[in-house]
Amino acid sequence: MNYRKKFVVEPGEKIHLNKVDPSYTGQHESHEKAMPIMQEHIARMDKLQYLLYADGDQSLLIVLQALDAAGKDGVVRHVFSGMNPQGTSVFGFKQPSKDEAAHDFLWRAHQRAPARGEVVIFNRSHYEDVLVVRVHKLAKKSIWSKRYDLINDFEKMLTCNGTRILKFFLHISPEEQLARFKQRLDDPSRHWKISDADYSERELWSKYTEAYEDVLELTSTPHAPWYVIPSNHKWFRNLAISQIIADTMDEMGLKLPPTHVDIDTITKQFHAAEQKQAKLVGKERGD
Ligand code: ATP
Ligand code: MG
Repeated sequence: MNYRKKFVVEPGEKIHLNKVDPSYTGQHESHEKAMPIMQEHIARMDKLQYLLYADGDQSLLIVLQALDAAGKDGVVRHVFSGMNPQGTSVFGFKQPSKDEAAHDFLWRAHQRAPARGEVVIFNRSHYEDVLVVRVHKLAKKSIWSKRYDLINDFEKMLTCNGTRILKFFLHISPEEQLARFKQRLDDPSRHWKISDADYSERELWSKYTEAYEDVLELTSTPHAPWYVIPSNHKWFRNLAISQIIADTMDEMGLKLPPTHVDIDTITKQFHAAEQKQAKLVGKERGD
């Protein structure tokens, strides 16, 4: 199954999230059976990231958005487990600092956007400025409603500069969220993940759904598509996301850069060094 085709939001498409099954697992029966397939995607991502880094021409920006406990951290941990930390980074978008809030809303996103050769993951992102900001009325409608176009222009600009953008909305049900809150509550090693806001935010589920549906409709573009990923099953979420990333990177035409040296000359230098080393070892042995 091609999950890029299946889960992509077409530009201008209105998604009704309550009609998208968050428990979907396609033809995959179980975690165990899906695991080797995901490992294959991850191995592919790893190889392609090596080329992206070596090539140093293009970059990749992954945006993860979701309601609490949908598994953004889990995606970072599992899906990106194969990538070399050199050339890869994750940035979590929290409430803006004083300095960040004093600038335009895209300022901090732009600062963290990947340089050539890099992969950057946004754990939450500039989309919070049309999500939490809208739901909590942190800015007037006349302000946030202009941001969809500004985001599209910003992402277009990054794309024109060689950045490939993929955006994932991790879709879970309210029941699954509650089950995960319970796991957090029952397991002291997860208590640090609990936030005061978890339950008050949950009360705003329908408002967030409305805000997300607008985001998906207004900001999924051919150059920076959104994917709605059924995420009640963590293993399926990871499987689908890793396939979409690996397939996209496959298409980026990544290749090793040409060598800057004359290989014949270097080969001669190598042989000379090899002979010298052999003589040295011989002397030490007293040959
Ligand atoms: P988890 O899903 O594991 O709980 P998290 O991403 O929610 O992780 P937190 O530190 O709990 O991490 O929350 C970060 C908070 O910062 C979120 O509630 C988010 O809505 C908020 N935030 C991010 N960007 C903005 C913004 N531009 N304006 C206001 N709040 C923001
Ligand atoms: Mg949180």
